[in-house]
Amino acid sequence: MKLLYLGTAAAEGIPAVFCTCPVCQAARKLKGKNIRTRSQALLDGTILFDFPPDSYAHYIAGGFSQFDLPAIRHLFITHSHMDHFYPDELQLRRPVFVASSPVETLHIYGNRAVEKALLRLQEEEQAVPCNDFCYAKPFEPIEADAYRITPLSALHDRKEECLFYAAENGGKALLYAHDTGIFPDPVWDYFSGTKIRFNMVSLDCTAILHKDGGNHMGIPDTIEVRKRLIDLGAADKNTVFVLNHFSHNGGLNHDDLVRVAEKEGFTVAYDGLEIEA
Ligand SMILES: [Zn+2]
Ligand SMILES: [Zn+2]
Ligand SMILES: [Zn+2]
Repeated sequence: MKLLYLGTAAAEGIPAVFCTCPVCQAARKLKGKNIRTRSQALLDGTILFDFPPDSYAHYIAGGFSQFDLPAIRHLFITHSHMDHFYPDELQLRRPVFVASSPVETLHIYGNRAVEKALLRLQEEEQAVPCNDFCYAKPFEPIEADAYRITPLSALHDRKEECLFYAAENGGKALLYAHDTGIFPDPVWDYFSGTKIRFNMVSLDCTAILHKDGGNHMGIPDTIEVRKRLIDLGAADKNTVFVLNHFSHNGGLNHDDLVRVAEKEGFTVAYDGLEIEA
């Protein structure tokens, strides 16, 4: 399985849209891996996780070789926060904006808040933008081409049913877990019940050095989650653990973050990183 990180920041990006704190100023000066757009990732060129306002920028930035946005058929949304789901862009799937019509169906999987946003869009635009919504029920696997994707319950915004996803294909398994604190008990029960073993685990690290655990995670929380995954047998010494979804409020630029994370055995995601596991 190959995971391509298209964006690796929290909601405000780095540099943050309207911020000139030391981290944002340093990012502006240093550029490169210090520049982080809003989180989105692509599995094997096929399964797209989240649809932030930077999706179009991700599409054109990659030179079209790895991320073929018009060809994507399966979009898994974690929750309705703007940095993970920017539905207004999807109205550009209406035939009037797509000269190569007919537009093929885009299967969008998500919670009820995502469905509501799509319905609002359809009402306002008085047109169905060729999207096929599927409610992603926690712990009920979804078949998408050759992939088995299981929505898992996140500990995040209590006003909606936030999700993260486990993806399996050809005997390999990936966990993409962003915008979540320490996983809730039903997730641990699911892991021990299914005996799933992940080749790669991508963990939320919004708070970077700080402990959070309630809505997001920082490195102390990711250490705890990794230990619990290994203790359960859901991960082992060969599992690649990646930290992702960073905020400038965490206080570190890329190189400083790598120094801290590497000591703990974590890989640090950056925009454009591709990992095969
Ligand atoms: Zn987020
Ligand atoms: Zn800042
Ligand atoms: Zn969120």
